[in-house]
Amino acid sequence: MEDTVRNVVIIGSGCAGHTAALYTARANLKPLVLEGHEPGGQLSLTTLVENFPGFPDGIQGPELIENMRKQAGRFGAQYQLGQVESVDLSGSPFTLQVGRETIQTKTLIIASGASARWLGLPGEQALIGHGVSSCATCDGFFFSGKEIAVIGGGDSAMEEANFLTRFATKVTLIHRRDEFRASKIMLDRARKNDKIHFLTNTVVEDVYDPAQAEVTALKLRNLQTGRVWDFPTSAMFLGIGHIPNTKVFEGQLDMDSDGYLMTQNYVSTRVPGVFACGDVQDRRFRQAITAAGTGCMAALEAERFLEAHAE
Ligand code: NAP
Repeated sequence: MEDTVRNVVIIGSGCAGHTAALYTARANLKPLVLEGHEPGGQLSLTTLVENFPGFPDGIQGPELIENMRKQAGRFGAQYQLGQVESVDLSGSPFTLQVGRETIQTKTLIIASGASARWLGLPGEQALIGHGVSSCATCDGFFFSGKEIAVIGGGDSAMEEANFLTRFATKVTLIHRRDEFRASKIMLDRARKNDKIHFLTNTVVEDVYDPAQAEVTALKLRNLQTGRVWDFPTSAMFLGIGHIPNTKVFEGQLDMDSDGYLMTQNYVSTRVPGVFACGDVQDRRFRQAITAAGTGCMAALEAERFLEAHAE
């Protein structure tokens, strides 16, 4: 039985998961990475990444993530496709159910990330990376001198809109109501910015044009007047929130009101031996480099935990 119990299982194969895999593999712990339903995480959805140190000319998001996977694999990290359906963290070893397979592990690193909330428009998914984005810091630069639309009425949308005015000639913030969830300071800042225009009580019904592989316009509807029109724009940035991938941990780990895992000492959950890193426990920074940083921390903590609990 003992040899079937893993030292480390990592849930998630984004930047945090691969970094945790690299460190634990180099510590000779033979980690198993369960890749999850979005292998590669959010980096696999973006195009050119220019803010990850070490790549003076930038690197494509999918290439960066593939490099990380190869690098961890070189030191013995194992990868397995599959979705964790349930976990039992009540005693050691921890038990995970992945399809029909039961996996046991002494430590668990949760790097399951957060998925951007999308609108679910017909043309939306095909245009991700071609003008549809959920990350202004990643993709804003590509729309220098262009007009951009930002969707949402919370702090994320205000922050994205403000940030995007560095590049865009005009940013139109489109929100479905005329009241905002955004904090007063963030809303005021956006309102004072001459480049930001507000379109309220308005929803997006579609984004064009997948056939041209670029965003050319949005189909909008005013909820008060019923008017429907095509709104020309070069990009649509979504600031409508993220959903942390934590459903399987409900009732077993502490979460905030939106489902983000709560950690102490950077990456420790309330269950000794279970660590969380990357966007699943970070709603504030959400950068590839910060995810990699906490992935490293989780790996080092798992290594220390195993040393302290060695039989
Ligand atoms: P949020 O506060 O939940 O706001 C989401 C916004 O998106 C809301 O305005 C919501 O509209 C809209 N929305 C959601 N689903 C939509 C849909 N299907 N169609 C159209 N609109 C939709 O999310 P967030 O802005 O990402 O912020 C999350 C948390 O992070 C907040 O606590 C925020 O304060 C914090 N945050 C802080 C900062 C900062 O301090 N620098 C920056 C970013 C985020 P309704 O209002 O109509 O529901």
